[in-house]
Amino acid sequence: GRVPRALLEVDRLERQFDGLKAVDGISFTVAPREVVSIIGPNGSGKTTTLNLVTGTIPPHGGRITLDGVRIDTADAARIAEFGVARTFQNGRAFATLSVADNVEVGMHSTLRASRPFRSLAHLFLLRWVALLGELFIAIIGTPASRRERALIDATVAAEIRRFEDRLGPRRDDPAYSLSYANRRRTEIARALAVRPKLLVLDEPTAGMNPSETAEVLEQLLDLKAEGQAILLVEHKLDLVMSVSDRVIVMDGGRIIAQGRPEVVRHDPVVVEAYLGR
Ligand code: ADP
Repeated sequence: GRVPRALLEVDRLERQFDGLKAVDGISFTVAPREVVSIIGPNGSGKTTTLNLVTGTIPPHGGRITLDGVRIDTADAARIAEFGVARTFQNGRAFATLSVADNVEVGMHSTLRASRPFRSLAHLFLLRWVALLGELFIAIIGTPASRRERALIDATVAAEIRRFEDRLGPRRDDPAYSLSYANRRRTEIARALAVRPKLLVLDEPTAGMNPSETAEVLEQLLDLKAEGQAILLVEHKLDLVMSVSDRVIVMDGGRIIAQGRPEVVRHDPVVVEAYLGR
């Protein structure tokens, strides 16, 4: 029979920094509906891998395909359009925008009505200037059709509802006034608002206490139940083991083991390189 195609296919991916092989020819896949986690010691290349998959930085070798389309040659904005949304390790909510506007901002990169404006923004060459341009557009209000406006509002509401207890009462408050955990929730809601094929999360529980971490785990399990494909970097092993279909272990820019969580957890190579330290 036909082998079902992976959603994300990473093939012999490479990236160096001043001769240091941060990512040294790694290959892995994420299937539709699959939750895959990358673990490994500090400096093993996890964040660099996410940066390469999302186009934050370009690779020096190898190829990446999403749904059969090559994305390793595209920039971050194009990759987002293809259906990859991410959050960052340190959180990147726009401080002066409200929760609702922060969630909405992400959607403007994928909506058709905003396309002429987006191309305009892209004329500004620099990614950050383009981002600022999009923000400006988001603030002055894209002249989206009424239907699109309704779609935006409904999606924003739905994603805030996901974190209702936490974000519901704060939806009109500026991000700077939120707790750290709520800023991170806002960021996840923003990534989800574009209905990504692949959600990429870089340490979503970093800086969170155990109860906040448990809450994120619940939300990840909900997303998994909804069939959301997720590529996750996370230090908290209990969370990784609870949510992942597959775990990839990196060390020194290479994949030293991968497999089902319960298998990886007891792999002597993994215990030596990671869990034992
Ligand atoms: P991890 O996420 O597993 O902690 P990283 O992907 O952040 O690891 O880093 C992998 C290696 O690449 C480290 O040695 C790190 O110092 C190096 N590195 C990462 N980003 C850069 C950069 N922008 N410039 C120089 N070196 C970098």
